[in-house]
Amino acid sequence: MSRTSKNLRLVQIFHNPVTAWVILVCGIAVTAAAWKISSRYVSERAEERFVHRTQEIELAIADRMNVYEQALWGGVGLFRASDRVTRKEWRDYVEVLNIGAHWPGIQGMGFSVPVTPEERAAHIEAIRAEGFPEYTIRPEGERPLYSSIVFLEPFDWRNQRAFGFDMWSNAMRREAMARARDSGVAATSGIITLVQETDQDVQRGFLTYLPLYEPDGDLTNTEGRRRAFRGWVYAAFRAGDLMGGILGSGGGDVDFEIFDGTELNDDNRLYRSGLAPTDSIRAPTQFARLREIDVQGRTWTLHFYPKAGYLAGADDSTPTLIAVAGLAIDFLLFYLISALAYLHRRATRIAEDMTSELRSAKADLEVKVTELERSNDELEKFAYVASHDLQEPLRMVASYADLFGKKYRGHFDERGEEWLGFLIDGAHRMQALVRDLLTYSRVGQREYNLGAVDLNETFDSAVADLMVAIEESDAEITKDPLPVVLGDAGQIRLVLQNLISNAIKFRDPHHASKVHVGASQSGDVCTLFVRDNGIGIDPEFADRIFVIFQRLHGKDEYSGTGIGLAICKKVIERHCGRIWLESTPGGGSAFFFTLTAAGED
Ligand code: ADP
Repeated sequence: MSRTSKNLRLVQIFHNPVTAWVILVCGIAVTAAAWKISSRYVSERAEERFVHRTQEIELAIADRMNVYEQALWGGVGLFRASDRVTRKEWRDYVEVLNIGAHWPGIQGMGFSVPVTPEERAAHIEAIRAEGFPEYTIRPEGERPLYSSIVFLEPFDWRNQRAFGFDMWSNAMRREAMARARDSGVAATSGIITLVQETDQDVQRGFLTYLPLYEPDGDLTNTEGRRRAFRGWVYAAFRAGDLMGGILGSGGGDVDFEIFDGTELNDDNRLYRSGLAPTDSIRAPTQFARLREIDVQGRTWTLHFYPKAGYLAGADDSTPTLIAVAGLAIDFLLFYLISALAYLHRRATRIAEDMTSELRSAKADLEVKVTELERSNDELEKFAYVASHDLQEPLRMVASYADLFGKKYRGHFDERGEEWLGFLIDGAHRMQALVRDLLTYSRVGQREYNLGAVDLNETFDSAVADLMVAIEESDAEITKDPLPVVLGDAGQIRLVLQNLISNAIKFRDPHHASKVHVGASQSGDVCTLFVRDNGIGIDPEFADRIFVIFQRLHGKDEYSGTGIGLAICKKVIERHCGRIWLESTPGGGSAFFFTLTAAGED
């Protein structure tokens, strides 16, 4: 296929209204796909971000809990290093840790000892002797085993509320205390409300206990550990403060809840960041994530969920943008191609209309031309027949008018003589007119006698015919050597004769008449001319004079019928030539005409 026809087919495709629809449908499909893909990408990215963030939070919590445990082991180490740790030494240790600055969330680090009912009174006495006369083990009451918080730093007003508190008396605490004592490792309790809590900003809390044993006890089994047990180094945590410390200003665009255990209900909720959706437990949002972590022997369940408006991030608008821009481009393309197709259709229709109009106009014209040719033909036939048939009666009228004139001239009165003159003159003029008309119609009616015509001979014969007029006018007729042309000798002679005769007739009375016939040749086209020094013709009439019966002068001025030049034009045109005039009034005239040169052979 050539390039242009390829281009043409391409153009046709784009000028097709179906193409516009196909492109629109495809465009919308592509836009929809792009929108879908980008939406999925955005939501995948959001989920990835979400998961990543939850992992960070989870790690931060687990890490921090381990670090707190280490700090507590430090406390255990302090007890192991000396026989007896004083209240002041404990205070120093905790002060060095600088809980407020470095360990947010720890309400206090303390030391609690087990007290049997037998030891109870002595124990209370000993502590009171340290300068705390109010000291007692709380709550009051008889129990098989007591415990008492003897050290708790920082020893501020809030922590003083817990001084002497028997944590063993509380089941939730007891479970973790027993676990620590029996296992020898750190143990975190379930959810408790710290004794230190007032009624303002009450937070849920928990405790982490570490066991302290006699240095030389048998710690290989539970029994041995129980025997060697001396007390608990522990820390009290307020969950809200703790998480605030771990996460800084917050969890970013992720919220989470911490449940103690694996059951997600309000009682088990240790902590909740931000404002949780009311039904967050029952109907997790699309990215909700549950993670279980072990915290010193206790399982915590972390429930993560995105904050409200999590997806309204920056790249959230990309799919919408893609959809809107895509649809805009689709419809623009559709409009453009439809417009192209419409314009093309319209242009085609206009062109078709014009073509059919032109066709019918051409057909009309052809009919008219045929009709004209036919009527022209009929007219010529009629002119021929009429002039031919009129000749005979006219000759008679003219002859008898002559005879009548010769015989009876001088026998009438003045008026009769004048009328006789009119009669004779009119008869002769009519004869001339009919003769010329016959000649004119013969040119159209007769068959051609085509042959080589030596124009020199034609010239001689024409001049011979005009001898009388030439002698009368004393005109000088000259010629160049003339060519041999192809044509009808008789008709070409008519042309020369008419032109020379006119040249003599329309002579300037002020000087002698000179007529020259010349020729030039270019290829096989011969251009001939008949030039005179007569009265000349206004160029304005250069075309009119070739029309039949058109004369520029009255019959009294110059005789004639107005047919001569029409005959010349007809003859030359039938020879496929051209005739024209070059003249200036008073400067003579030159009639040019072309004929085809006869071949060499
Ligand atoms: P006729 O000679 O019979 O009048 P023609 O057809 O031969 O008719 O010429 C038409 C008219 O053209 C003439 O009447 C004349 O006015 C003008 N004409 C023709 N030949 C010449 C010429 N050689 N010089 C000036 N006028 C001419």
